[in-house]
Amino acid sequence: SNQVTQQGTRHVPADLPDRIQHYIGGKFVDSADGDTFDVLEPVTNDVYLQAAAGKQADVDRAVDAARDAFLNGPWPRMVPRERSRILHRIADIVESRDARLAELESFDSGLPITQALGQARRAAENFRFFADLVVAQADDTFKVPGRQINYVNRKPIGVAGLITPWNTPFMLESWKLGPALATGNTVVLKPAEFTPLSASLWAGIFEEAGLPVGVFNLVNGLGEEAGDALVKHPDVPLISFTGESSTGQLIFANAAPYLKGLSMELGGKSPAVVFADADLDAAIDATIFGVFSLNGERCTAGSRILVERAVYDEFVERYAEQAKRVVVGDPQDPRTEVGALVHPEHYDKVVSYIEIGKTEGRLVAGGGRPEGFETGNYVAPTVFADVPPSARIFQEEIFGPVVAITPFDTEEEALALANGVRYGLAAYVWTNDLKRAHNFSQAIEAGMVWLNSNNVRDLRTPFGGVKASGLGHEGGYRSIDFYTDQQAVHVTL
Ligand code: NAD
Repeated sequence: SNQVTQQGTRHVPADLPDRIQHYIGGKFVDSADGDTFDVLEPVTNDVYLQAAAGKQADVDRAVDAARDAFLNGPWPRMVPRERSRILHRIADIVESRDARLAELESFDSGLPITQALGQARRAAENFRFFADLVVAQADDTFKVPGRQINYVNRKPIGVAGLITPWNTPFMLESWKLGPALATGNTVVLKPAEFTPLSASLWAGIFEEAGLPVGVFNLVNGLGEEAGDALVKHPDVPLISFTGESSTGQLIFANAAPYLKGLSMELGGKSPAVVFADADLDAAIDATIFGVFSLNGERCTAGSRILVERAVYDEFVERYAEQAKRVVVGDPQDPRTEVGALVHPEHYDKVVSYIEIGKTEGRLVAGGGRPEGFETGNYVAPTVFADVPPSARIFQEEIFGPVVAITPFDTEEEALALANGVRYGLAAYVWTNDLKRAHNFSQAIEAGMVWLNSNNVRDLRTPFGGVKASGLGHEGGYRSIDFYTDQQAVHVTL
């Protein structure tokens, strides 16, 4: 259907639900106490649905269902190929519904439709990848000739609690669901309260693919209620969390009494370091994409750009010009490059950082609400130059379309600037000096470095951060390791 707004005619997905329930033990259910919370969409900030607000009682039910499926159901006992077949069916279904998924995700989160489509496809790929990996899995055997054979039993752990953020929600859920399920665990997913819409599709997809009842459970609700109950549930031995570093710290403390396995993918303030010898055209294109794609609501956003003095003025001028050409628009419009930020609270946070930035750096593009957008959570791509490393906009994660540019004179200074924040998720390095490229990359405190490259993922490589950006690495076999126990068996010959 179409809706007329200030920006013209607007596409609104057909058949939007007006309420979302939990999914527990193969059934859609309301909260035990009947409580719900409001969900807004970011273009009008109107409440468009009510979601069930899960509490401890609902989490208890979901964990019981998942535990029953783990202890008594077929899923953990299937051979990898059998589970893999179901995961491939899940991937096929996700892929066949990518347009619908993207439309809903874009409506609920404000992501540009073309980018939401890319995320739906990545979600399918996450299932395929782990489906293939568990079939190819080989475990260690060690022989002491004539004396012993020692081998490894790899076992699923139990009920995995999956807690996910509102940025690219469906894809990030798949990044946890894929390996957790492939390895034979059962799960309780607690999606982000700002964006529960796309997660509500999982149940139907899993049923259609033939996932046994109770293997997948979903509880909606607030972090401090449903999320907290999951973290503190004694029958949930694993928590995989993606979100803010401060939330990660709290979850770490709350899980400590239970000695849970924790995977923490947290915030970032990733540098893009541009040396004077770099291919400047490529560096500008990539660093524009790196912070303005996904509305800048991206954990690996290159939100600080460090530029060598010799090309600094030219870089800033060209970068600002290009930032002004980035198309802000309705999330459902295929021409849009930056849509609406997810929620008015987040919008207020991003805009308050822009105001702070005006006192800390030199504004060269954007600076707040773009012209012609009087309502909705729209922010013009915003660029600050000459930002000192002491600035809050240099140090703190803004998680919006805002970038800080800082000059440097020497490689040592570039490294000190790059590493001079509490985060260490990603880094981007632009140089054509081969030796420097590799040595500088190694010296950067970041879990992932992209060298003369945009942010592209290879699912086999480690994914995760250092310092305040995370604990533990997933990706490839590392995810399999997180979701399984490895038991050593020693046999005397
Ligand atoms: P958030 O920490 O506010 O919330 C994340 C999830 O945790 C939500 O589901 C929320 O309900 C839940 N939660 C909140 N408090 C909780 C508690 N006390 N106990 C249990 N669960 C709780 O993060 P957000 O604002 O949704 O997401 C944005 C953040 O996520 C940014 O910092 C971003 O960098 C980070 N992020 C990191 C990665 C990564 O892979 N490293 C990826 C995407 C996003």
